[in-house]
Amino acid sequence: MVDRTERQGQATIHAGGEWLPASSGATREILDPADARPFAVVAEGDEKDAEKAVAAARRAFDHGPWPHTPAAERAALLRRVAGLLVRDREELGLLESRDAGKTVEEGRVDIDCVADAFRYFADLVAAEPPGRVVDAGSPDVHSVVVHEPVGVCALITPWNYPLLQASWKIAPALAAGNTFVVKPSEITPLTTVALIGLLIEAGLPAGVANIVTGPGHTVGARLADHPGVDLVSFTGGLASGTKVARAAAAGVKKVALELGGKNPNVVFADACATDEDFDTAVDQALNAAFIHSGQVCSAGARLIVEESVRDRFVAELARRAQRISLGRGTEEGVECGPLVSEQQRAKVEAYVASALAEGAVLRCGGKRPEPSARRPESGWFYEPTVLDACHRGMKVVREEVFGPVLTVETFRTEDEAVRLANDTEYGLAGAVWTTDAGRARRVAGRLRHGTVWINDFHPYLPQAEWGGFGKSGTGRELGPAGLAEYRESKHVYQNLAPKPVRWFAG
Ligand code: NAD
Repeated sequence: MVDRTERQGQATIHAGGEWLPASSGATREILDPADARPFAVVAEGDEKDAEKAVAAARRAFDHGPWPHTPAAERAALLRRVAGLLVRDREELGLLESRDAGKTVEEGRVDIDCVADAFRYFADLVAAEPPGRVVDAGSPDVHSVVVHEPVGVCALITPWNYPLLQASWKIAPALAAGNTFVVKPSEITPLTTVALIGLLIEAGLPAGVANIVTGPGHTVGARLADHPGVDLVSFTGGLASGTKVARAAAAGVKKVALELGGKNPNVVFADACATDEDFDTAVDQALNAAFIHSGQVCSAGARLIVEESVRDRFVAELARRAQRISLGRGTEEGVECGPLVSEQQRAKVEAYVASALAEGAVLRCGGKRPEPSARRPESGWFYEPTVLDACHRGMKVVREEVFGPVLTVETFRTEDEAVRLANDTEYGLAGAVWTTDAGRARRVAGRLRHGTVWINDFHPYLPQAEWGGFGKSGTGRELGPAGLAEYRESKHVYQNLAPKPVRWFAG
């Protein structure tokens, strides 16, 4: 494991500049999803450790230099971190692959994106004017709106993109001058622990960056309701996000939630008119649904295809899905790794069983693959699965499966396509495939999702906001709004020629 700090073995809690084991002494084995074997051990923190970390972050915010460090210096530190991520790309990419079960190449891409996030927020704060002067309508008044850090931030992250999701919070939190306590998912904490080491190596003052490894119901819940925390930023599922929102609301904390999605991929027949276009649309539908075994919040898990091309489209999709090479993410030539945990695979299996019971037609997958040399029987593998003849009444269409399961629905008209695509309680992302530019703009304008792709699926840009409509969450990450989440605005009104008001006669 990447470790250029003074940290020893199970001391994965970092509070106030010190690496510590759990105060209870408890530990947790981290399992490799490809064979279910432990390959690392971390501290299993609890509420006490959360208290310690919040106290350290509080001290560093209230009495430390970081909130008052000039923006140019904060930006320089973030750029140093990006440089260290580039230096450690191979090790971190490999670690992410083993921890989350993704391929090493996916792990490397994740690390590149993490470095991009640090560079983006560095550039954003470095280029900013220090405040916005407001015209108060009098030469005797100087009025300016400035931005200040919110304070102590609790950052709670999921297991599918462990370091990437953490970086979308840590980079803007630091750029804005906050201190933080991060709680990574208990099953994939390793790269976030490593990042804390890099922040320290880059010169961040003690107490600014703190981490507590441990479960959500203890560490996460305590961070969300702790009176010493000013802001909670959470990425994860709807059920835990709702609990976090409730806890944060009780303490009137700022809160940002990045939750799940049930994302439509709408394919019009005109996008399949030539063989080349057909191949592109199928290829991208495959990528939309099955990259990282579908464990992606923005996965295109609902294919909504025009009826006239449905048979050809689904047949080709199923043919290609069956050829996806499944195996340990570190093996050469593997295209998809296992699911992250036994529990996650059991959840996927239950969704597929319920879909079949409700009348879905299995086109491919629907089972565990045969074990092989690159695919141990003990690993949590599941075949890419295409379920045809689906409709909104089915649980598998309404709820987030978070696995390699693609459902197929059909439409006849543009209105019907839009209605189906918006018929979800979520609203994270969606795509429309068409060669008709007018239709592309019309449909994109009507989709109630935080990101809409036209003739593409999955790309995001650090300079463009990411987040959801509906139950996909509140607030935004990335872009200028992703920095604004971590700031308070302050209006400073200076009277340059004070005189009595004489409102009161006496
Ligand atoms: P999860 O909700 O189970 O856990 C997320 C984090 O919350 C973990 O660190 C967990 O320990 C913690 N947690 C759990 N219960 C908590 C509680 N009561 N209080 C405080 N913290 C608690 O989610 P997961 O299974 O790790 O991740 C998958 C989910 O994340 C999916 O729903 C996916 O769509 C979502 N996700 C969303 C985005 C996005 O950008 N919108 C990105 C990635 C993942």
